[in-house]
Amino acid sequence: MSQSPFAMAQAQFDHVADLLDLPQDARQLLRNPMREYHFSIPVRMDDGTTRVFRGFRMLHNDSRGPGKGGIRFHPEETADTVRALSTWMTWKCAVADLPLGGAKGGVVCDPRELSEREQEGICRGWIRAIARTVGNVQDIPAPDVMTNGQHMVWMMDELETIHGGHEPGFITGKPVGMGGSKGRTEATGYGVVYTLREVLKAQGIELKDMTVAVQGFGNVAQYAVQLLNEIGAKVLAVSCWDKADKCSYTYKKEAGVCFEELKSVTDKYGTVDWARAKELGYERLAGDEWMKLPVEVLIPAALDRAITEENWEQVASTVKIIVEGANGPTTPEAEKNLLARGVTIVPDFLANAGGVTCSYFEQVQCNMNYYWTREEALQKLEASMVSATKGVLQMAAERKVCLRDAAYMIAIDRVVKACRMRGWIR
Ligand code: NAD
Repeated sequence: MSQSPFAMAQAQFDHVADLLDLPQDARQLLRNPMREYHFSIPVRMDDGTTRVFRGFRMLHNDSRGPGKGGIRFHPEETADTVRALSTWMTWKCAVADLPLGGAKGGVVCDPRELSEREQEGICRGWIRAIARTVGNVQDIPAPDVMTNGQHMVWMMDELETIHGGHEPGFITGKPVGMGGSKGRTEATGYGVVYTLREVLKAQGIELKDMTVAVQGFGNVAQYAVQLLNEIGAKVLAVSCWDKADKCSYTYKKEAGVCFEELKSVTDKYGTVDWARAKELGYERLAGDEWMKLPVEVLIPAALDRAITEENWEQVASTVKIIVEGANGPTTPEAEKNLLARGVTIVPDFLANAGGVTCSYFEQVQCNMNYYWTREEALQKLEASMVSATKGVLQMAAERKVCLRDAAYMIAIDRVVKACRMRGWIR
């Protein structure tokens, strides 16, 4: 049986704790969330019955600032997954050098089977259960799997009703005009590309000369493709899920995938209209072909466990670099083999930190009650991603470790220092 997400997060931590020779007290503190909340959310359903949903909020560590992390609505949500995700948020915020800690929340529910009113009931109930421990200076939630800007606004409204007053900085991922930040939609995808550009630069390679294949054509992948188009790198193919056929396909265009063009034939769930794509000159291949194409860069930006011990050998021999847009797309075994082959792997919690960085900007703007232009937000995002990437490259060179270990070393070291300064550990 494969490891649970939290066992995986702890194993990754233990490995770097050994590299950093961390003392026992730091290990004990950082192997588990500092606080966990498990609660029931009773909701009056449309048919008049009451259903009780299970909710969670875990705060892994807040030594560097208030907790930060999304809330997932998923029928298979578990405390174990939320625990793991809260731990990874601590490392992601720390490697991006944001003054935030790590947290995550969830509700066991399937919003696809709930009315808007029932979803609103869950959002408001989640806040009522946790109102004393979330907030601007405590713990700041955000959207995640199957939650969106509307859910965030209901949550904000509930907290403001309880507290009496406006506190938009308590939650991020809100729509622009309701306290959201311009640039947030593009932030994760653009951040992936800024990171890729810096890693290549350090290897003396220009991104604009590269060929790329992408898995996914959702939020992260689309904006990565848009910026790659702008920079002049050639995106040979993207792979995405077809909801009618219930399988994925790779859409390839020899002249290069164009963001605007492909987006114009993709529905809001990410399914490409094949008849129209064909007219635009796209070829349709099997779903896993994206990783076998003769490109130099792969950007898995769809799912976890996309490149595994079973399929890593199919990664084309031309691939020099894999940038993890998604969370956990490369399994540890696949990574080991690809590193041995000389492939550079840019780890998820560095490559996709653009999203949380822009969420942090949203919180800052809310607290000032003054909102930046899109250009200002994106400029600050680029500066932040470049600085984080350079730091990781430098650590990797100094300690002769892979980029994932280097990113972990920086993040864990920053958090340990904050815990020490607070006197939590020696
Ligand atoms: P999304 O739902 O907008 O898009 C997901 C895409 O994956 C869709 O295009 C879908 O067609 C595709 N897909 C699903 N199954 C597939 C399969 N088997 N093969 C090929 N494609 C498949 O999601 P997103 O927001 O773009 O997130 C993608 C990943 O990035 C997730 O792992 C998410 O946790 C991570 N991430 C997202 C953000 C963010 O700001 N959106 C931030 C950090 C990390």
